[in-house]
Amino acid sequence: MIIKARYVVPVDRPAIENGAVVIERRRIAAVGSARELPGRPAADFGDAVICPGFVNAHTHLDLSMFAGRIAPGPDFIAWLRDLMAIITAEPATPKRVHEAVRAGIARSLESGVTMIGDITRTPQWTREVLSASPLRGISFGEVTAIGNRRQLLFERLDAALVEDRRSEQMKIGISPHAPYTLEPAGMLACAERADKCNAPLCIHLAETVDEERFTRECEGPFADYLRGLGVWDELIPTSGCGPVELAERTGLLGKRTIIAHANYVTDADINRIAAGNAGVAYCPRTHQAFEHASHRFREMLAAGINVCVGTDSLASNPSLSILDELRFLRHEHADLTADEIIALGTLRGARGLGFADVAGSLTTGKMADLAVIPLDTSNAVAGWDSIFESRQPPIAVYVSGELYRKTGEGLDE
Ligand SMILES: [Zn+2]
Repeated sequence: MIIKARYVVPVDRPAIENGAVVIERRRIAAVGSARELPGRPAADFGDAVICPGFVNAHTHLDLSMFAGRIAPGPDFIAWLRDLMAIITAEPATPKRVHEAVRAGIARSLESGVTMIGDITRTPQWTREVLSASPLRGISFGEVTAIGNRRQLLFERLDAALVEDRRSEQMKIGISPHAPYTLEPAGMLACAERADKCNAPLCIHLAETVDEERFTRECEGPFADYLRGLGVWDELIPTSGCGPVELAERTGLLGKRTIIAHANYVTDADINRIAAGNAGVAYCPRTHQAFEHASHRFREMLAAGINVCVGTDSLASNPSLSILDELRFLRHEHADLTADEIIALGTLRGARGLGFADVAGSLTTGKMADLAVIPLDTSNAVAGWDSIFESRQPPIAVYVSGELYRKTGEGLDE
């Protein structure tokens, strides 16, 4: 099967004008100019860009049930309190989780996302739906255990690793939630278990400015919040260091780890992350919604860190679209090139999730995961990067060579 468009953007090499992609047995068989790849195309998308499917390196599909119901703002703990209140008032049931995850999957695929790093509080229910979907990626089971809940640690670790059924598309990972919901011993236990099972890890780290005071001295807004929750049976051990150093000491900065956020990091922290080879999932619009200080992702990239992009959940972001995140980045950071921006949302994400050999670029032999985005034709000299100027969603999305969704004009069946 051949598909064509005005541009093909493989990401691992420069854009091709009047390009074509050949798909055979679910994989990319060839990428090049339409002239060099003759044959009647199954679809000619015309004024559009064929690019790799997007990679959402950090999300929580099971929080889709709270979409638009909590407002993120500068007070992170107020948001967390609201989230916990709503989670307590509406406890997860299989039906609710299935519906939320199903909705999250549909919204992801419609927006061109074909790979995710998803965190779930209820792995046994989330994975029933995820493993039946076309998405690939990692399902991280979340682990929290602190204060009088610390005895639940190993139970939660075991639950995190439960598999619905073996799926090559969806790997199983562990998410030690954050230093303020998991004590240092718990972080270490997650790292050791991940090592033993060769499982990927994801941790929320250095997300807010207050986190450092908590890890260093066990004081400040997080300590007050936990005391208020009544989980504080005895003093949580202070580590005397910031969150990134704590993660390093507990074995959580290795190459199998994705750090969500890393919003407040020092130069030394950037060096630690680079030395450990952990990836960083920057969530641009969620970051802005919480009014954090500017993210140091460019310095991270310069230090050799694999930075990728996530949306975080619908409890802090209006959509699960990585294309929307990239459009936001284009608007906010005029110094980034279009090639740099698209790599953040595709190949770098695949690398971060350990799927760079499988997908993330239009490369012969990789799985045919593609998004087709219309060009902004209001601009007479629309280059391929005009996809960042418009607000239009993809007109087609393929996962493993199968068309997920096809709308709009220009289809030549
Ligand atoms: Zn998150």
